Amino acid sequence: MPQSYRLVRRDARREPTVVRLKSGATFGGDEIAICAGPCGVESKEQLEEAARAVAEAGANVLRGGAYKPRTSPYSFQGLGEEALKMLRDAGDRHGLGVVTEVMDPRDVERVTQYADMLQIGTRNMQNFPLLREVGASRIPVLLKRGLSATVQEWLLAAEYVLLGGNESLVLCERGVRSFDVATRNLLDIAVVPLLEELTHLPVVVDPSHAMGIARLVPPVAVASIAAGADGLLIEVHPDPPNALSDGAQSLDCAAFAALMRRLAPVAEFAGRKLPKRNVAVDGAPGTSAYRPLPEKSDNASKPASAVRSSSRGVRLA
Ligand code: PEP
Ligand code: MN
Repeated sequence: MPQSYRLVRRDARREPTVVRLKSGATFGGDEIAICAGPCGVESKEQLEEAARAVAEAGANVLRGGAYKPRTSPYSFQGLGEEALKMLRDAGDRHGLGVVTEVMDPRDVERVTQYADMLQIGTRNMQNFPLLREVGASRIPVLLKRGLSATVQEWLLAAEYVLLGGNESLVLCERGVRSFDVATRNLLDIAVVPLLEELTHLPVVVDPSHAMGIARLVPPVAVASIAAGADGLLIEVHPDPPNALSDGAQSLDCAAFAALMRRLAPVAEFAGRKLPKRNVAVDGAPGTSAYRPLPEKSDNASKPASAVRSSSRGVRLA
């Protein structure tokens, strides 16, 4: 690898990086992370239904767009800060971390007030001012692979974030554009084991944007975990045919629950665990009285997000 991969390269750390959200969800540890929820936050009711369903099925992070990068300026653009508030509220009530996209460097501070993890979307993978801005923050970042980015370009985009001092970065493969339009994108599942060699950073797969077709999402999600992915990002909508964005690729709540049941033995086969379920105070999942499981005591004094190998410092190539 070229000298320019100083911070992301595998041998820059003794151990692979574990990114931990404030909520306790981890990426890169024994436990995989399951991020699920609607493409876009459309209303309180829609988000509540999705959040309750994904929490009950065993997800540990709620996804949902407040600022939507739409190809057409006439399409639903997201509800902005209102949606951020709804995400925080639903996440807290259901014991879920919150990941949401930030598109504009000027919004980073605002989104950080509500979210546990900032998503950099595929269209912004090489938005360098945005990468610098999230690099200057200390909130975990989910960096999606660019629409047609090479692995080298993707890792160098990650390098920007780490260079800013933010070591909590997770890579997300979401398919690349190909000659074939049979699926929305072409999922490059080979990057999962490849990145395990090249970088210490965790890698998750988003089969929803890769496939574009809901019924193809579960088998590809299963394959991703079998290949060693550290987690999944999956679009779930209570009423996919009426979704304001990405309905065709969104699982309904029942299909997501079925996928979670299918994933359990596959995670075990891959030597991993599904997220631990949060414990409801009154024993009824999905009610407003969620109490997150206590974090392990050795993390008690660590900042909101911690990188397992950070105490060793960074060895430059
Ligand atoms: C999304 O997660 O809804 C999204 C817009 O993803 P991507 O940037 O991968 O297209
Ligand atoms: Mn989407």
